[in-house]
Amino acid sequence: MKKLIKNLSIVELQDFFYEYSQPKYRAEQVFKELYLNRVSDFSAMTTIPKDFREILDTNFHINSITEYQTQKSADGTIKFLFQLRDGQKIESVLIPDERRKSFDKLKMTETEKLRMTETDKLRMTETVKLRMTETDKLRMTETDKLRMTETDKLKMTETNKLRMTLCVSSQVGCTLNCTFCATGKLGFKRNLETAEIIDQMLFAEKVAGVKLSNIVFMGMGEPTYNLANVIKAIKIISSPNNQLLSPKRITVSTVGVVKKIRELADSGLKVKLAVSLHATNDLIRQQLMPYAERVTLKAIGDAIEYYYRKTKLDITYEYILLPGINNTDNDVKRLSKITKRVPSKVNIIPYHSISFIEGSNTPYKEPTKDEIKTFTEKLKVEGVNVFLRTSSGKDIDAACGQLAYSQRNS
Ligand code: SF4
Repeated sequence: MKKLIKNLSIVELQDFFYEYSQPKYRAEQVFKELYLNRVSDFSAMTTIPKDFREILDTNFHINSITEYQTQKSADGTIKFLFQLRDGQKIESVLIPDERRKSFDKLKMTETEKLRMTETDKLRMTETVKLRMTETDKLRMTETDKLRMTETDKLKMTETNKLRMTLCVSSQVGCTLNCTFCATGKLGFKRNLETAEIIDQMLFAEKVAGVKLSNIVFMGMGEPTYNLANVIKAIKIISSPNNQLLSPKRITVSTVGVVKKIRELADSGLKVKLAVSLHATNDLIRQQLMPYAERVTLKAIGDAIEYYYRKTKLDITYEYILLPGINNTDNDVKRLSKITKRVPSKVNIIPYHSISFIEGSNTPYKEPTKDEIKTFTEKLKVEGVNVFLRTSSGKDIDAACGQLAYSQRNS
């Protein structure tokens, strides 16, 4: 039975070629064809001798997913529903940053335009340039140029150069059944293979005609429950041979699986860690997320500190704002204390209703603009590094699991 070639690391591909008495550089050539030239057919691998292209074709598939449905939001968000080879479906969401959305809508005020140029300039101050290692600089120049065909370059308008984040899935469905999440209602089918994780990135870039700047593992599933494949995918994506993205531009999100947070810290991969907090005490957290019955906030805090000590990377806390449940003054105080243990930021995500799901009976309501403003302002007063994440793609069901849910019975 054919395997997915993108499941293989370069060493595993070298082992494959070794069996055919081929030199190691064959594996590097294949990686280049797959990840730089993005071929979708072995016959197009012109750097590989014809008889070996045939051997590869007999043993492997190149693509692990196909585009099933794509929805574009008025705010620039694109939601992909991909079909896997066994017919299962997963979601990925492409989220342009706030500035790009504004560009796309051509609705920027003069003040916003001024702020953007100044910010962009600041982003590349001498300090930032100095912080870049030589490898980073090389990556930004030669590799980027090599990767881009002339067509790609034309497609890269000014707006394309801004931040483009892809939210990727790590599992088909999820076992954890958080009460505010559509994916939880889908049940769990299986873990994604390494190739299926990587292909979300390659297909999103191809379909949308953009170059990704960031990946966040915040789509369907709990990434740390599929950690081996997630780590392998990240290693391939960020390998010196491919240089698709630096690990620092990749974020792994978790509900707080402490053993796996430590394992990720020990892996040596310096990826960013995001923790879905959503409550500031164990009792409320248990009501929102059944997984919280298995772990205390104290234990999660210890694991986060371990992660920070190992990676020296700031931690991100995700906090879905649920008015009447987690937005009291006590929450502000406790959240401030929790998030000051190590350098961090808090993303406030206003709750986006999933009431369309039959049987969901969620008791939550969406916060008003005033409720959002009050909570974030109070956090700022406490010195919390807080950001408001607007609900991207509300008009296209872009919250986690919503599109897959709507397709479940179709
Ligand atoms: S929020 Fe994440 S961990 Fe919770 S059910 Fe949804 S996909 Fe699973």
